[in-house]
Amino acid sequence: MNKSVTDQCGWIALAGDYPSYPTLNGKQVADWVIIGGGFTGLAAARRIAELAPNARILLIDGKRIGQGATGRNSGFVVANESPGHAALSAADGRANYAAVNALDHAGVKELKRLIQQYKIECQWEDTGSIHAASDPKNFDKIRHHAQLFSDLGIDATLLDETVLKKRLGIEHYKLGVISTGGALVQPAALAKGLANNMPDAVETFENSRVLDIAQDSSGALLTLENATVRASKVIVAVNAFMPRLGLCRDRVFPLALTASLTRPLTDTEEDAISNAPSWGILSPQPLGATMRLTKDRRILIRNTAEYQPSGINSAMLAKRRNIHYAGLQRRFPWLGEGAIEYTWSGNICISKNSKPVFAKLSDNVFATGCYNASGVSKGSIMGRLIVDHAFKEPSDLLDMAMSIPKPDRIPPRPIFDIGVKARLAFDRVKGKSEA
Ligand SMILES: Cc1cc2nc3c(=O)[nH]c(=O)nc-3n(C[C@H](O)[C@H](O)[C@H](O)COP(=O)(O)OP(=O)(O)OC[C@H]3O[C@@H](n4cnc5c(N)ncnc54)[C@H](O)[C@@H]3O)c2cc1C
Repeated sequence: MNKSVTDQCGWIALAGDYPSYPTLNGKQVADWVIIGGGFTGLAAARRIAELAPNARILLIDGKRIGQGATGRNSGFVVANESPGHAALSAADGRANYAAVNALDHAGVKELKRLIQQYKIECQWEDTGSIHAASDPKNFDKIRHHAQLFSDLGIDATLLDETVLKKRLGIEHYKLGVISTGGALVQPAALAKGLANNMPDAVETFENSRVLDIAQDSSGALLTLENATVRASKVIVAVNAFMPRLGLCRDRVFPLALTASLTRPLTDTEEDAISNAPSWGILSPQPLGATMRLTKDRRILIRNTAEYQPSGINSAMLAKRRNIHYAGLQRRFPWLGEGAIEYTWSGNICISKNSKPVFAKLSDNVFATGCYNASGVSKGSIMGRLIVDHAFKEPSDLLDMAMSIPKPDRIPPRPIFDIGVKARLAFDRVKGKSEA
């Protein structure tokens, strides 16, 4: 296997040419600044332009617009997130799940609206979501998902081994549940399309990292490498990078996920899966694999998650690629070693109780983020709603966003580091048979 691997995201590489946006320079004054050009920041910028079309609105990303986790994720547009991620035994747990679920569905709807309006080519498919297990010890979880979905009025059907084999073209999965509402997408192509179709009122800048936010009673002074911005209002949409900006340090932390994408399947390989139509599988275990057979006939696997605040280097990436290959072999035993074309990593943002940040940090600075691994839909709605919160625009969805409990406090480092690594090791053992 390869000794070193270049961190190249397959989705971004395959999304075609990206427009480049300028770097922000000099002394600027703006009505609104959105920091972070992922799904959340893109949604926030669009919403501000709807509500204040004559304002000066700056959308600023430290790297390339839409090429952080937004372009690097597995492309599940989640509508019904894994119920295991929420504390559902108590009634308020279920009420929270119902609110989160309504927000996710609203995010999916919003993205569909934009894709249709701007004719964004992004391999969007209304597939619903399939959670599936191969290990009998996880079957109860699948049945629990199915029960919970139907209790909440979500259309859900159990899929047995025979049905799964026919649908997926492989024998690996033994029990699954399909629920309606979710979709699959080429995330980088989606983000690129959303950025390309920003309202004219939004000025977009990239490679312009905000180094400091000094909040005061009239707004905030942002310091960048080659610029300062005096902003009346700020939306922070940097997700896993909040702690680096000195925000929510005691509430959220990053987890590094890595994924691999193969080359397109050959005709022989297509025969081996009986030319199954594209699909996506989510695991009932947090550290089980997410898998996709993409519309352009590649296989995606993501089966690692780790706490690596200093990042994933190329030697580490090569090891993760080997883990991906082992996961592919379990499902597609005929797939050769060289089939993986791209391997990359990205950061998700996590809180101890899996709750998002949706907060007014001061009179003029607002933040949202931290959606675990379901930020495609959630970021696309929470980005809009945080702006509604700032504008005091009431809605049922805003009430729902406000009703979700806040992230619990996490212990200080190094106690936190030890705890999170132990928890991940435990989850890794539990998820091993689904990795
Ligand atoms: C491998 C992987 C698989 C995943 N799979 C899925 C999935 O299938 N479905 C799903 O829904 N979610 C998935 N996720 C999570 C999802 O990608 C995130 O929840 C989502 O991208 C969050 O969007 P965001 O805009 O809030 O944050 P991000 O996408 O992280 O965007 C934040 C942006 O802020 C910028 N930024 C950071 N710091 C600064 C700064 N100081 N100044 C300026 N800009 C800054 C970054 O460059 C970045 O572009 C996955 C993530 C990864 C990494």
